[in-house]
Amino acid sequence: MSFTLHGLAVSQGIAIGRAHLISHATLEVAHYAIRERDVPREIARFEEALTTVRNELGVLNTEASAPGTPSELSALVGVHALFLDDPLIAAVPKDLIRARLCNAEWALVQQMELLVAQFEEIDDSYLRERKHDIVQVVERVLRALLGKPRRLTKKGIDSEIVIVAHDLSPADTIQFKNLKIAGFVTDLGGSTSHTAIVARSLAIPAVVGLHHARPLVREDDLIIVDGTRGVLIVDPDARVLEEYRLRKREVELERSKLKRLKTARATTLDDVDISLQANIELPQDIEQVKDAGADGIGLFRTEFLFMNRDTLPSEDEQFEAYRLVAKALAGKPVTIRTLDIGADKTARALVGAERQAPNPALGLRAIRYCLAEPQIFLAQLRAILRASNFGKVQILVPMLAHATEIAQTLAMIEQAKQQLRERRCKFDENIAIGGMIEIPAAALALGPFVKRLQFISIGTNDLIQYLLAIDRTDESVSHLYDPLHPAVLQLLAQVIQTARKADMPVAICGELAGDPQMTRLLLGMGLRQFSMHPTQLLEVKQQIVMADTGQLAAKVARILRLDDPERIREQVEKL
Ligand code: PEP
Ligand code: MG
Repeated sequence: MSFTLHGLAVSQGIAIGRAHLISHATLEVAHYAIRERDVPREIARFEEALTTVRNELGVLNTEASAPGTPSELSALVGVHALFLDDPLIAAVPKDLIRARLCNAEWALVQQMELLVAQFEEIDDSYLRERKHDIVQVVERVLRALLGKPRRLTKKGIDSEIVIVAHDLSPADTIQFKNLKIAGFVTDLGGSTSHTAIVARSLAIPAVVGLHHARPLVREDDLIIVDGTRGVLIVDPDARVLEEYRLRKREVELERSKLKRLKTARATTLDDVDISLQANIELPQDIEQVKDAGADGIGLFRTEFLFMNRDTLPSEDEQFEAYRLVAKALAGKPVTIRTLDIGADKTARALVGAERQAPNPALGLRAIRYCLAEPQIFLAQLRAILRASNFGKVQILVPMLAHATEIAQTLAMIEQAKQQLRERRCKFDENIAIGGMIEIPAAALALGPFVKRLQFISIGTNDLIQYLLAIDRTDESVSHLYDPLHPAVLQLLAQVIQTARKADMPVAICGELAGDPQMTRLLLGMGLRQFSMHPTQLLEVKQQIVMADTGQLAAKVARILRLDDPERIREQVEKL
C-alpha cells in the first residue's frame, strides 16, 4: 500500500530505490515457539547461519588486507571472527533452543542481551565497549538467519539502495562515502546535524526527522526520497513513480549544465572577486574539490579521521592525511580545523568518550576538549605544522569564546613548533592561525580575535544553534532553527563588517555559505569568502556571477532594519 511521510529536507535530489533497514537486531527478530521434533532443524538453521557469517568475515578479511585499507578494519574483522566462534555465541544459543524450545533468532538475542549486560558491568572502558562488537556479530548472524546477508561493503551494495534508519550518527554516515547508496532517511535528526552535513557532502538525497519511517517501511519496499521537499513515498503507484523518474532526470540534467561554470571566475557583475572554497571531511574528498574548481579548502573537519576506529590516529598518520591534502591543493589554501569532537560527533578512541555529558553541546567540546587533553592536541598540531611544509596550510580553531582560550591555544601552537624545531622538522613558521566564530559571545566581542589571530571563519551552524538556543540535532525544534531570524542577520552582518574594518579576512564555512538562496544576502552583508561542500559550489557560483554587490549592499542594509520575519523572508526572496 502506498503512503507518504514528511520530514526535513536535508540533502537535495531524488532517489528511487529499495529500502534497506538498519537497526538494532533486537527490535527486529521474530519470537516464536518451536515443537520438540523441530529442534534439530532449528539448530541446523543456526549452524548454517554461523557458516554464512564465517564466510562473510573471510571475504571481509581479504578485502581488509588490501593496500590502503586502514589496519583497524582488519583488526575489527579479526575480533568479530573470534566472537563468532566463541562458545558463548556459537554454542549457548543451541542449548537455549533445546531447553526453551524457542526459534534460533530468539535464542541468539536472549544470549546477546545477557552478554551485553555482563559487558556493561566491566569497569575498564575499553573492554566494556566490546559489547558493540558482540551486537554487530549477532546482527550479522541474525541477517543470515533471516536470509538477508546483504552487507554494507563496497562489493555488496548496489546504487539503488536507500538506507532507512531510526537514527544515524555522523560516524555511521561517513562510512557511506565508500559505498554506493542512492539516499537515506531517518526518524531523528536536525537539518544542520553532522549526519545531514555528511549527506550533503555525499550529494545523496536525504530526509531526516520522519518520526515513523523505520517501523513503517519494510525491507525491500520500493521507495522514493525527495530530498528537496523532505518527502518519503513508500510503494508509489505507477503514475507517481513515472513523475519522479522524470524529475530525477531533470535534476541530473540541471546539475550537468552547471558544470559549465567550473572554470568560470566567481566574479560579480560589478567585478568583485569572490573566493569559493570547499569543506571536506576526509582526504578522499579532494577529487570532488578539484571537480568543483574550488579556490582552496576553507574547512577540513579533521574529527572524521578519529571516528570508526578503536585507536587514535597517530601523529604520523594524521600528518600523511594532511600532507596529502596540502600537496593535492598545490599552493591553494588548506584550512585545517583542529579536532572538534563532542556534542553529536563522538569517537570511541578518545579519552572520556564514554562519559555522558549532561548537555554535550555546551560541554567539553572542540577547543575545550583539546585544551583539556594537551597530548592529543599537541600531536595534531605537530601533524598539521609538518604538513605546512607541503602547501599553504592554515590552522583553524573551533568554538573559541574567551581571550584566555585564544592565548592558551597560541601557547600550545608555539609549544608544538618548539618540539618540531628540536626534532629538526620543517614547517611554515608563519602559518596563519584563525578562529571560528560560532559562539555568540565571540561574535559580540571580536577584539581578542582581531588582535591575536590572522583570520576568522563564521560557523553559522553552531552560531545559530547557540544564538537561538536550539539543538541542531533535535528535529522537534528544527522549525525554530531560522537563519533569517533578525538577531542572526544582525549578528552576521556585524561580524563581517567589524572584521572587514579591521582588515581581517572573514569567511563563512557553515551550511549557510552553501545555500544558493542565501548567497545574495551574504554578498550584500559584505562577505567575500565562502566555504561549502564542493557539491554546492557551482550553484552558489551561478548566483555570484549574476549579482551586483553595490546594489545588494543597499538592499541588505534595508533588510537589516526590519524585525518582522515575514517581511524579511519576502525581501530576501526578492533580492
Ligand atoms: C559550524 O558550526 O557552522 C561549522 C562549520 O562547524 P560544524 O558544523 O562542524 O560544527
Ligand atoms: Mg561548529
